[in-house]
Amino acid sequence: MDKSKLTIEEMAVFCKRKGFVYANSEIYGGIAGFYDFGHLGVELKNNIKKEWWKTFVQERDDVVGIDGSIITHPMVWKASGHVDGFTDILVDCRKCGSRFRGDQLIQDKLKIETHGMQLEEISKILKEKKLRCAKCGSDLGEPKRFNLMFNTNVGPVQTSSSAVFLRPETAQVIFANFKLVQENARLKLPFGIAQIGKAFRNEISPRDFLFRMREFEQMEIEYFVHPDKQEECNFIDEVLDYELNVYSADMQKNDKAMEKITIKQCLNKKIIKTRWHAYWLALMHKWFVEFGANAEHFRIRQHVKDELSHYALDTWDLEYEFPFGWKELQGLSNRTDFDLKKHMEHSKSDLTIFDEETKKKIVPHVICEPSQGVERAFLVFLFDAYSYDKKRDNVVLKLHPKLAPIKVGIFPLVSNKADLVKKARDVYDEMKKEWACTFDLSGSIGRRYARADETGIYATVTIDFESLEDESVTIRSRDTTEQVRVKISELKDVLKKYMDGEKLGKLGKKVE
Ligand SMILES: [Zn+2]
Repeated sequence: MDKSKLTIEEMAVFCKRKGFVYANSEIYGGIAGFYDFGHLGVELKNNIKKEWWKTFVQERDDVVGIDGSIITHPMVWKASGHVDGFTDILVDCRKCGSRFRGDQLIQDKLKIETHGMQLEEISKILKEKKLRCAKCGSDLGEPKRFNLMFNTNVGPVQTSSSAVFLRPETAQVIFANFKLVQENARLKLPFGIAQIGKAFRNEISPRDFLFRMREFEQMEIEYFVHPDKQEECNFIDEVLDYELNVYSADMQKNDKAMEKITIKQCLNKKIIKTRWHAYWLALMHKWFVEFGANAEHFRIRQHVKDELSHYALDTWDLEYEFPFGWKELQGLSNRTDFDLKKHMEHSKSDLTIFDEETKKKIVPHVICEPSQGVERAFLVFLFDAYSYDKKRDNVVLKLHPKLAPIKVGIFPLVSNKADLVKKARDVYDEMKKEWACTFDLSGSIGRRYARADETGIYATVTIDFESLEDESVTIRSRDTTEQVRVKISELKDVLKKYMDGEKLGKLGKKVE
């Protein structure tokens, strides 16, 4: 990792100072694992969700979306296995009562990988290595399983039948609606159902700012295929030459380094088992890179055998190199027909699809489930956009124009000339119909440029004395500080082209 990059704590400070993210209810001391998004954070978060939805739902013929409820029938979580199996391993201190996640304690103290470690093994290591409380150094209690779902009650009387859960994932709400969506949207296999929404996990020790939270948002697709046609991926040609860092289960087992290879090689060498899985991995990776993230900070890592979830045949994580190490950004599981079958069994509903070809009822397989935390994507884009410009002596947040919370800043050169300020305000009123804009007249123009750079404002427009004469303004680029002069009547058009990727220098008269 580039040493000029921030630590996660520094990123949290930056996010607070600039109005991206605050600790929830900070005036009361905050509450661990919960965060609020500020005036710029909400824009960035909404832009991430909007672009994801546009790419993976609106621009595709084979994916539709839903927006499900956070509280569902509790049987959904019984059927899915969450009631019995959605657990982490909890150890508490016998003396001070501090609670830890067994695997994290081992990772932190012994610096060993704990992917997929079960209760027995964690218990054994804790005892053998005589690990003690990270806070007070006292003895630890017996490790036990702890269910991560938040409980609440529906209705005025609390009984065992009123107990419900806040959803720990969005996926099950898709499965529960599978039949209705498939029929009403007249979907034919292969197809996907997507959802963006909140999920809740009662993490034992939330940590690393937005990385591990108790309330977070997911962007998720369940992609269904015909059980007999799992190899028929029509889109695979689009990604065969796509290259990425790959870290397979075998490489991990044999202590090898990750390798940069193409999707074609992954398939030929049978590193990734199915084409659909390879296709979605490449597509998700590509999405991040297209929106400005650095491909070198990503790798795909296959889950080792013990790490696989109860429902998964094969899982790959899209990982990002955070300041605290390579961590999961997105999990892409092959969930097979596990979930639909479980819901058929528990609900006694028919969730099959009639196959016209064979005249048989079939249960589709979820060949891949790209599941992404919105806040993790938020962190990735911020980390890769953040740069310190020595020449300018300020931070420049080089967010993709589509993600930038504010696209255009409108600045009157001085604040004490009424006609000049009015002209600037007229320009602002016109531009804000098109984009998120800001109007700033406080401080020197240099100070205002610096403030704009720090929050990622993609272009700034200055209205000066000459503007009153020649009906022209100066546009400045955030990324290059290059400036061009354009007519106010052409401003909207020029900004549009600039945001679409054209070079600013070619769109107007250069200002030296
Ligand atoms: Zn203790």
